Amino acid sequence: MAALLAWLAVYLSRSRREARRAASLFESQMRDMAAQQAQLEVMATDLEESNVALAAASREAAVSRDAAVASEERLHLLDQASAALASSLDYETTVAAVAHLAVPHFADWCSVELLVDGTLRQIALAHADPERVKWAKALASKYPVDVDAPTGAPQVIRTGQPSLVRDVTEEMLVAGARDEEHLRILREVGLYSVMIVPMAARGTTLGAMTLVSSRPTRRFTDQDLTVALELARRAAMAIDNARLYRAALVANEAKANFLATMSHELRTPLTAIIGYQELLAEGIPGKVNDVQRQQLGRIKVSASHLLSLIDEILLYARVEAGKESVRIEPVVAKGVIDDAIAFITPTATARGLTIEAEGVDPALLLSTDGGKLRQMLLNLLANAVKFTVRGGVTVRAFAQGPSVVFEVRDTGIGIKHEDLGRIFDPFWQVNQHTTREVGGSGLGLSVTQRLAHLLGGALSVDSVPLSGSTFRITLPRNGQPLA
Ligand code: ADP
Repeated sequence: MAALLAWLAVYLSRSRREARRAASLFESQMRDMAAQQAQLEVMATDLEESNVALAAASREAAVSRDAAVASEERLHLLDQASAALASSLDYETTVAAVAHLAVPHFADWCSVELLVDGTLRQIALAHADPERVKWAKALASKYPVDVDAPTGAPQVIRTGQPSLVRDVTEEMLVAGARDEEHLRILREVGLYSVMIVPMAARGTTLGAMTLVSSRPTRRFTDQDLTVALELARRAAMAIDNARLYRAALVANEAKANFLATMSHELRTPLTAIIGYQELLAEGIPGKVNDVQRQQLGRIKVSASHLLSLIDEILLYARVEAGKESVRIEPVVAKGVIDDAIAFITPTATARGLTIEAEGVDPALLLSTDGGKLRQMLLNLLANAVKFTVRGGVTVRAFAQGPSVVFEVRDTGIGIKHEDLGRIFDPFWQVNQHTTREVGGSGLGLSVTQRLAHLLGGALSVDSVPLSGSTFRITLPRNGQPLA
């Protein structure tokens, strides 16, 4: 029994030890678990934070993707606007096209007001819905913009400074409305965001472009304002260029009219001078001695020279004004060449130069204005003789595809490469000193070129300084303009 008790005591004490060990193991396991739990919680918080960061990053990515798309759209708009503005000199049409390009992707409304003779004139108004445009135009005539208004387009035009109202408030509408009905209309338009940008060119503000957002989700930003400013700048430049071009046309027409009138007025007394010179030279009023005859001869040469200059100016003015008519008829190339050569030969011979036609086929025919062809050849031959000191002048003509080419080649002073582009400009001469000695109006080549165009052809030149020049008139064989 004692042994049993002793065994029991040993057994119990061992079990207690084991129970204590188990309890301590359990406690340590519990501590580990608690530590793991804490670690898990930390990880969960980290995870949550990374999730938040990820969401923010993907939101940012979406925003920058949207921004990239928006900026690409803005660039595209500017490109399209430039193309539209460059397509024609009729600026009212091109500016209207630009206003249409701006809606509805960039703005819901786009209008352009120009300052014309102290008043504002709307030259473009665009909205995606044409019915709304009609409605707004009717309103604009009912509530015209006062050029002296302290806000809006008039203010932008006066100051040259843009205006961006990101959020249009009810108070602003109330302040801007002229009366109750106007206020109701302004509310109906739904003005949520407005940009007004000046249209300036060469330091002058020509007008203003107004862009309106009529949806609450679109508020104009600084980037939008930058695009609007660029759009308006390009439109203003196109308007300015078109206006300058129109002014140049008017000035050119005035110049052509002046030349035509003056030349006509000069021609009349000159014809009288030549007539009386001829009467005197023929001895009709009385006998003339040799000295008088010689002097009368000089009067004749100078008067005839003056007359040919005046005729050249008159012809130039007529061609410039589009008043020169064309008479197409069958023309024998050799006949016109021989005729022109015969006319110039005395001058060429007097200068010790040869002048000849080279291998022109007598059967070479073309449909053109023979008189104008003769005039062109005379101009080129006169120049060839004038600017050649030694050697001579050769004329050729030959068929080339649908054209006939007339070539006048000389062995003269030639033309420097940098001057070749300018010799066809009216009143332009390479060397004032040389030409003052040999005479000339500076109109021969420009008239010849214009006549060649009038006959549906072209005039070109090749030249080597100190070696000579070759001028070519290319005319259509059948009288139909060459492509
Ligand atoms: P111009 O009345 O002065 O001859 P043009 O228009 O016929 O006027 O010619 C313009 C200029 O081109 C001339 O002044 C001359 O400088 C140059 N030019 C024209 N033809 C020739 C040529 N065959 N050789 C050299 N220079 C020429």
